[in-house]
Amino acid sequence: MILRVALDVPLPKLFDYRTDEATRADVGYRVLVPFGKKRLVGLIVEVAADSDVPASRLRAAEKILRDVPPLEHEWLELVKFCSGYYQRPLGDVVAAALPPRLRRLQAIPELPATYAITASGSEALAALPARQRRMRALLEQLRQEPRGGPAIAAELRGARALIARGLEAGWVAEVEPPRPEPRFVRALTLTPEQEQALARLRQGLDKFGVSLLFGVTGSGKTEIYLQLIAEVLSRGKQALVLVPEIALTPALAAAFRSRFADACIVTQTSATPEAERARGWLLAHRGLAHIVLGTRLAVFASLPGLGLVVVDEEQDASFKQREGVRYSARDLAIARAHIAGAPVVLCSATPSLETFHRATSDKYELVPLTRRAIREAELPAVRLVDTRAHPVHDGFTAPLLEAISARLGRGEQSLVFLNRRGYAPVLACPACGWVKGCRRCSAHMVVHLSERSLRCHHCGLAESIPRACPECGNPDLHPFGRGTQRVEISLGEKFPRARVLRLDSDAVRSQSGLDGILESADRADILVGTQILAKGHHFERLTLVGVLNADAGLFSSDYRAGERSFAQLQQVAGRAGRASLPGEVFIQTRYPGHPLYQALVKHDYTGFARSVLAERREAGFPPFVFEAVLRAESADAMRAMRFLREAIEAAPPRSAAISLFDPTPMSLARLAGVERAQALLQSRSRPRLQAFLSKWSETLYRLPAHGVRWHLDVDPVEF
Ligand SMILES: [Zn+2]
Ligand SMILES: [Zn+2]
Repeated sequence: MILRVALDVPLPKLFDYRTDEATRADVGYRVLVPFGKKRLVGLIVEVAADSDVPASRLRAAEKILRDVPPLEHEWLELVKFCSGYYQRPLGDVVAAALPPRLRRLQAIPELPATYAITASGSEALAALPARQRRMRALLEQLRQEPRGGPAIAAELRGARALIARGLEAGWVAEVEPPRPEPRFVRALTLTPEQEQALARLRQGLDKFGVSLLFGVTGSGKTEIYLQLIAEVLSRGKQALVLVPEIALTPALAAAFRSRFADACIVTQTSATPEAERARGWLLAHRGLAHIVLGTRLAVFASLPGLGLVVVDEEQDASFKQREGVRYSARDLAIARAHIAGAPVVLCSATPSLETFHRATSDKYELVPLTRRAIREAELPAVRLVDTRAHPVHDGFTAPLLEAISARLGRGEQSLVFLNRRGYAPVLACPACGWVKGCRRCSAHMVVHLSERSLRCHHCGLAESIPRACPECGNPDLHPFGRGTQRVEISLGEKFPRARVLRLDSDAVRSQSGLDGILESADRADILVGTQILAKGHHFERLTLVGVLNADAGLFSSDYRAGERSFAQLQQVAGRAGRASLPGEVFIQTRYPGHPLYQALVKHDYTGFARSVLAERREAGFPPFVFEAVLRAESADAMRAMRFLREAIEAAPPRSAAISLFDPTPMSLARLAGVERAQALLQSRSRPRLQAFLSKWSETLYRLPAHGVRWHLDVDPVEF
């Protein structure tokens, strides 16, 4: 027999190996094979009778690894879809989809075995003399209920040897672990609107369908999907929940555990330690885990009993993988649910425009929630502070400072939001105009005063702050603009008695974790922070949000900037007044008339989305066209551009339905010493774009690369 094996090798093909020991039932098993001088673990994708490779050149597979049950047809369908859609070799996708431990020839962390007493064990227990105290204790334990090895060992010294003796005597047998029945606890009382939403989602539970659960911050979306998951578990099925932030996963997992008693809940993120990740993955794969909770990579968990997929904060950019297999976990979640015949629920207060467009054009089911679930909690009042009428001093306008001062007087909390960490984004010489750039990236270095260094936020390079201008020798270098560190310092000067706390990824790193810092955050009077603050955490006394520098997102060349800006501002505004105290939001802006701000004031995402969608339709941007880019990376910018031009010349003939644009450098042209350029493709027809990409990709693999690395990015988010 011939095994067709997917290997983690950058070639778009499967590799054939011969074997005597295989049948067609071996599809989905991992296999150890020789490759060049190496041995690799691959995945058996097909078992065939013959091969195109001449028999003399076929090598023998070393061993089929049957310790892990085979991956099922549905899972293989998912990785094949991902490979075809994102134009990546299947072996690459399989490697990205499996936890690292399963890709290597390495012991897989064993699931603890469960033991039960046999009939002859029960007889023996009655007959065993009292001096066989420990064997009696073991059998006594197992007579009550089957137990796992670790549970036995916790109560009994020398458990392992005892179990071995019991197994040998036939008194003890290894059994399937009992599957605990999860119990849903403390179902909250739903508002009539929530009830209605839940009822609609419940109706769709036994078939594929995409729903958008679209509700303002605080409208209780989480409670709805928790109750929906409870329903799925009660039907004996598994649920997959995708969330954007690694940092929030432990807290969310704890919340899930407190609501689903006795449920087996597994987390899968890139921060999960390898052994734990493999163990959790296997629990899900064997159908023992009830819920898999994780970031984008969890979309590849093997779930033979999948009954529901939830994607929380579906608009979040982190669902798009930016290297290797450049998949969107949200889009794959939909493909996956389709393959499994299960529903998928996308949740958001500010959906991506792609999703919103489909939900309002009857492709998805729109399930709206218009009210906050806690009756007293009103939506915060959003005020625009015109910086032409109220000049900015040291980052602040007078009305915002007065509002903060009033909160301090009442013992309430304020949050100053600024999406820029560090002290100042630019270090420059006022005498000659020199600006400190990163030597590896086309970007400025950011002044970090608390670490006394300059940092590149793109590649991580750190340098000390120069004493004088390297161009003209002027010792008086100026930091321009402001980041969170600078705002923290000036707030400390303006309100010397207030407790000011900065919350950004630098602070989280130095305080070793988000949890510890969030605890002290509840005691602070003024919080200064980046978008880390916008998500998840609930501040009881927070009644004021001040936004500095909001205009930075208005005039970007990236057509998605406005959408992201709106989502972020609405999310951070939602932090104000979640409890019984009313909230207020101050946005400092030079453009108070801008439609984005006008929509924010009215809490009108729908109006905003409709107007932006109309612009996109007019201008021919997604979701009205589909996009892909061919990207080339090289130490030499000329080579990257030349490769792209050659690739375009070698492109197969294309219909008028496909536009292929001239290559351009990326907006961040140099990153960590690598020059990056790309050619954009657009089409109104996704199938035609896909067909063209498949053909083009074949020719690309044959083009001489000359020190250029290339990849295709389908549905790109960076340009
Ligand atoms: Zn100078
Ligand atoms: Zn850099």
